[in-house]
Amino acid sequence: SAKRAALSHAWYSAAQEAARLDHLGLVSDLRAAVAQSQLQMWLQPKFSLAGTGQPVGAEALVRWIHPQRGFVSPAEFVPFAEQTGYITMVTDWMLDQALQTLQAWQTTHPALSIAVNVSTRDLQDAGFAQRVGQKVARSGINPQRLRLEITESGLMEDAQKSVELLHALRAVGIPLSIDDFGTGYSSLAYLQKLPVSELKIDRSFIDGIDKAPRTQKLVKAMIEMGHGMDLFVTAEGVETEAERSTIAQLGCDVMQGYLGSRPLYGAQLQAWLDSVTEA
Ligand code: C2E
Ligand code: CA
Ligand code: CA
Ligand code: CA
Repeated sequence: SAKRAALSHAWYSAAQEAARLDHLGLVSDLRAAVAQSQLQMWLQPKFSLAGTGQPVGAEALVRWIHPQRGFVSPAEFVPFAEQTGYITMVTDWMLDQALQTLQAWQTTHPALSIAVNVSTRDLQDAGFAQRVGQKVARSGINPQRLRLEITESGLMEDAQKSVELLHALRAVGIPLSIDDFGTGYSSLAYLQKLPVSELKIDRSFIDGIDKAPRTQKLVKAMIEMGHGMDLFVTAEGVETEAERSTIAQLGCDVMQGYLGSRPLYGAQLQAWLDSVTEA
């Protein structure tokens, strides 16, 4: 649990912590993974729920192709990487990949944004906002085309500090999103202080929403609250047409999920990009 993780940070040095967690042999391999190009950035498209349903951008999702184990799910290694601090290498690598991709799209797809997941561990580094700002400046990319996603539960770990760090990031001009919204127990008073521009409603609320009137009321309230604070609202994990039409009726702005597209890479990603014509 988060509480146990926090306790163990107080008691173990980073190296001891890494050794404790390394029962899968994954943590020590992660350093090599970054150095030896075992990571991949996959992109999952997001689509507008208004008008013709045009794509608005994509979320960057890390994949690790381990030389012995093969595919290792981020659900498996991201928590380890967060607890040991190695996540900062992954985040830096993903940011570089995202910025390179945005550069490559500069002429063909200038309206598409890319969102990178940022962990609370990244936010604990006081130099993070400055480092991101330097990367963006060096890339020459309009910071509005990059987005950062931070989970609601992560933001609640150190609420006061999170507010400050988000303001520093926002000052760089990068739009911020609250990920897994609805699962992290944040208060309205706290939300109001956060300089964010998007709420991403957790997929647990979207799963089967067309058959769940009470969930529809709850999600409608989330959307109205988001709009009341001038935020875009995205639904995660949309898998069926019935789920899509329900959230569209409730006023949701953007959808992401297997119905629109799975995460894409390589030739599949290129084929999708080729099919996208920009207005
Ligand atoms: P997340 O940020 O909530 O990302 C969305 C996850 O939902 C992705 O899983 C995506 O493949 C999956 N997904 C998308 N649409 C659907 C759908 O319609 N149905 C279902 N069942 N799932 C859907 P993935 O890629 O396995 O990532 C899992 C989690 O790992 C992410 O959840 C995020 O918390 C973390 N993660 C992934 N990449 C990164 C990264 O680069 N950095 C950090 N810090 N965390 C990452
Ligand atoms: Ca995310
Ligand atoms: Ca999410
Ligand atoms: Ca489902």
